[in-house]
Amino acid sequence: MTTTSLHEQMEVILAENETHDCEGIGKDKICVRVVAMAELPSRFGDFHIIAFENNRDGKEHVAIIKGNVIGAEDVPVRLHSECLTGDVIGSLRCDCRDQLEAALKMIGQMDKGIVLYLRQEGRGIGLTNKIRAYSLQDEGMDTVEANLALGFRDDERDYAVAAHMLMSLKVHSVRLITNNPKKIQQLTDYGVKVNVRIPHVMPPNEHNLFYLETKAAKSGHLIDFHGKQHLKEQDDRAIIEGMSEEQIRLLEEETWE
Ligand SMILES: [Zn+2]
Ligand SMILES: [Zn+2]
Repeated sequence: MTTTSLHEQMEVILAENETHDCEGIGKDKICVRVVAMAELPSRFGDFHIIAFENNRDGKEHVAIIKGNVIGAEDVPVRLHSECLTGDVIGSLRCDCRDQLEAALKMIGQMDKGIVLYLRQEGRGIGLTNKIRAYSLQDEGMDTVEANLALGFRDDERDYAVAAHMLMSLKVHSVRLITNNPKKIQQLTDYGVKVNVRIPHVMPPNEHNLFYLETKAAKSGHLIDFHGKQHLKEQDDRAIIEGMSEEQIRLLEEETWE
């Protein structure tokens, strides 16, 4: 029944969006349109996937939704920034894949929820530039130095597109899955009603265990076997089950500064 009504409501949204145009959101006046929806059964649960076009860079952002979120209140939402090397290849230079899987698993078990998969690779600098930054880090630069050396700010991400996507889906209010109040502030500034924060907690595994064991938790960055920092690609570090109160406090302070 829910599925039927989701499909009916999406038919309406798709029809309305054919001619959608607005003044846009954020400094770049981003406007997106909902263009397609399909079922997406996955190993993490039964989802629907919704494709969006935007007026800025032609990137194809998607919403992965569980249940019927159209017109709903208090929808759990996770914002995930694309990371080809982590999400797809399982790179250990970052923990993007673990964060994405944890979010999909969490939402897959809920009645409803949304993962917005945002195509802002490498903190917004793009895949090739991210690999250039990795290369500079291999030569000894830290993450910030590498980005600046390439002519980028430390963080080029923007959540205007996410805010518009939630509005396009007529989501009335959200519970944001994040450890970063700045993300809540940005969405709120763009007009999204964020009712509450759900801490993003991941189960421990062989790849994130060292979080618990090293100063990584203190610095808020991943640190590899050679002691070099990794690129912090999602904008908030996940809390990992088993972290001490003190580790969580230090991690959140770092993220929230
Ligand atoms: Zn618009
Ligand atoms: Zn990553």
